[in-house]
This record gives sequence, C-alpha cells and structure tokens, in this order.
Amino acid sequence: MRTTVGIIGAGPAGLLLARLLHNAGIDSVVLESRDRAYVEHRQRAGILEQGTVDVLRAAGAGERMDREGLRHDGIELRFAKRRHRVDFPGLTGGRSVMVYAQTEVCKDLIALQLKEGGPLLFEAEALAVEGADSESPLVRFRHEGREDVLECDYVVGCDGSWGVARKAIPEELTQVFERTYPFGWLGILADVPPSHDELVYAHHDRGFALLSMRSPQVSRLYLQVPEGTDAEEWTDEAIWDELERRFETADDWRLERGPITQKSVTPMRSYVHEPMRHGRLFLAGDAAHIVPPTGAKGLNLAVGDVVTFARALVHLKETGSAERLDAYSETCLRRVWQAERFSYAMTTLLHRTPGATPFEDRIQLARLDRITAARSAEQDLAECYTGFPLE
Ligand SMILES: Cc1cc2nc3c(=O)[nH]c(=O)nc-3n(C[C@H](O)[C@H](O)[C@H](O)COP(=O)(O)OP(=O)(O)OC[C@H]3O[C@@H](n4cnc5c(N)ncnc54)[C@H](O)[C@@H]3O)c2cc1C
Repeated sequence: MRTTVGIIGAGPAGLLLARLLHNAGIDSVVLESRDRAYVEHRQRAGILEQGTVDVLRAAGAGERMDREGLRHDGIELRFAKRRHRVDFPGLTGGRSVMVYAQTEVCKDLIALQLKEGGPLLFEAEALAVEGADSESPLVRFRHEGREDVLECDYVVGCDGSWGVARKAIPEELTQVFERTYPFGWLGILADVPPSHDELVYAHHDRGFALLSMRSPQVSRLYLQVPEGTDAEEWTDEAIWDELERRFETADDWRLERGPITQKSVTPMRSYVHEPMRHGRLFLAGDAAHIVPPTGAKGLNLAVGDVVTFARALVHLKETGSAERLDAYSETCLRRVWQAERFSYAMTTLLHRTPGATPFEDRIQLARLDRITAARSAEQDLAECYTGFPLE
C-alpha cells in the first residue's frame, strides 16, 4: 500500500489530520489499532477552545457540534465556600469555549472520513516506523491477521501516549521532560442534569473537585484521589457524599445526585518529547506531549499540531518551500510549553498536594484570591483557558 501521508492513530489528532489533508487534496491512510466502537466511546476530553471550534467548522466537521454542543462563556472558581465567576468574553474580547465531548468529535470525523476521505483501517496496529530519515519512510502494520507495509512520503504519529511512532526517533536526539503528580482524578458519568450551567473548579481542604457536563442530561464530575486509587474502592454513595463536601458553598446551592453509569481513575502527568519531528516522521498530540487535564488542553493541543502540519504541507505543495515543515517542531513546541505552563499552574493552584506545609496552603489561597481581585490575573486565566493562538 502506498500513500502521501501515513497516519498512525484515529484519535482526534489522526482523524482531524486526515480530514484537513483530504480537504487540501492530499491523500492519506489512517491505521488504528482499536475497533470503531472503542474509539467512538472512549470517555475523555470535553472542552473545545475557540480555535478548535473554528478549525472543526472550517473543516466541514462542525455541523452537529454547532447543533448539540454547549457554548460556555465562563467557569466558576469555588474555594473557602466562596463562588467566583470568570467571564470569558468580557475578559478576552469575545472568546468562549464549547462543551462537546471528544467521543462526539471522533464520531463526526470518522463518519466524514468513511464517507468522503481516504482509507481508515480499524484493528490495524502499527508495529514500527522505518526509514524516518529517508525520502520514503514506511509503517509496518498488522491488519486482519496479516503483516503489511504502508509506504509514505511522510508519517505522522498520532498514536497517543503509548504509541510506537516516537520510538523511531533515535534516543540520542531525544529529550524528555516529565512530571508526575501524587494524585489522580476519579471521574464519573452520571445520568443527572448538571447542577450548574458552567464548569465549577473547586479547591477544598479535602482536595480538588470539578463539575462538568456532557449534555443537558448528563453530568461529568471528578474528585482528586491519591495516586494509585482503584475506582472500585469508591461506592456511588461515597462519591456523591465527597463531591457534596468539596462543592460546599455559603449559599443554598445544591448538588443533584443521579445514577452513575461509568467511573474510572486518570493519573496526572506532564510530559513533553522533544523534538516532535525526525526527518519525515512527525509526532502530533498525546504522542508528543501530555498535560494534566486541569487546564482542558490535551485535545486542543492535538488539534494545534495537526493544523500546523497540514498547513506546512500545503505550503510546500503550493510554493515548493519546506521551510514550514522544517520548523514544525519549534512552532508546535512554543504552543505546547504555554499549555504545559498553564496546566501545571491550574493543577498546583487547585489540588491539595500531600505533605504541603501550612505556608504553601495559604499561598494557594492567596493565588485564588488574586484571581478574584485583580483583573489582570483573571484575564490571564481567561485568555489561557479559551486558547492559545495558532501561528
Ligand atoms: C479523563 C480525561 C479528561 C480529559 N479532558 C480533557 C479536556 O477537557 N480537554 C482537552 O483538551 N483534553 C482533555 N483530555 C486529553 C485528551 O483526551 C487527549 O489529549 C486527546 O485524546 C489526544 O488526542 P490524540 O489523538 O493525540 O491521542 P489519542 O486520543 O490517545 O488517540 C491515539 C490513537 O492511536 C491509537 N493507537 C495507539 N497505538 C497505535 C498503534 N500502534 N497502531 C495504530 N493505532 C494506535 C489509539 O488506539 C488511539 O485511538 C483528557 C484526557 C483524559 C484521560
């Protein structure tokens, strides 16, 4: 099999890249190790930055998002029983975010790809990328029990944090930057209307909690839990009791309970792989970087990477200049490190770190106070949350 761009992974990065290339008249093949149902139902991100929304619309993939997604103009910060709303449009000159689940973004892009785009092979596991620094790299993969080869002009590894693509970059050229946090998020999906119409980020002596949503009928809620927690250790009642404590306010706000349909624990990690390119192999999305979910940046960074790659390849096609492709890693990493910085800042602002001293606890509250008291601090949060510009 031969194609211009071989894409490994059909998460948001790989699927959107295939769509952008299709729209630009560049052919691609997508290899995805899992089956379609798995990819369409894996619960993950839910917040789309303004820039991501604009890209999906321009790619012709925004129709259902515009119908069913929920535009959000702010978030609430909750601490010391206080409530403070951060007004995005007022602080950023009109920007907002969209609540539309990653599962739905993937469903929309898969449907478009199967209808209009190039081959998208499910249960096709990439085994290795070879010849990354040659003119014609290839991907060895296994599909329907047979091993096969995909010959390409370019390979883009969109294969997530446990993929194979980045292994093709020689270790001596690689630098990895990493931080793990001594806690994770216990996340639940519940069949109950959200108790607040915007996301609530709660700092509490017992730990962080987040109230989010997937639709007007389905709530998504998270609790900070110690690293290594097994979700099954928590009964449904214990989860609701704990959420109620951490969302407490001085007024009569109430948390509505409902049947929990899913629960799982996500570890918290910051990770950056440099460079994001080696020869004709490019890394995009979680294959190159991970952020803790507190800043809602992971999916949005993946979108930024593939837009950068697609634009650079179109530029090469139109002008013959490889300048933008050559600058891919540096261009993406500038944005990635801003998102790493913001995600780290939000994580350390809102979570209880085991062993934190009383001094550090007070500093955390002072940082929260500063956001509510100084427009410049609040504006910085609103600008970062609604998204970093694409160069
Ligand atoms: C609980 C949770 C909440 C989150 N919340 C947010 C949020 O609110 N906002 C946000 O922006 N981000 C959020 N994220 C992060 C976001 O989900 C990821 O950053 C996003 O999925 C990255 O997309 P991707 O396409 O790069 O990687 P992935 O979605 O991981 O896709 C990679 C794909 O590659 C496939 N693959 C792997 N190896 C191979 C192989 N060898 N061969 C073929 N295919 C392979 C995988 O099966 C997968 O389908 C959250 C993540 C979690 C876990």
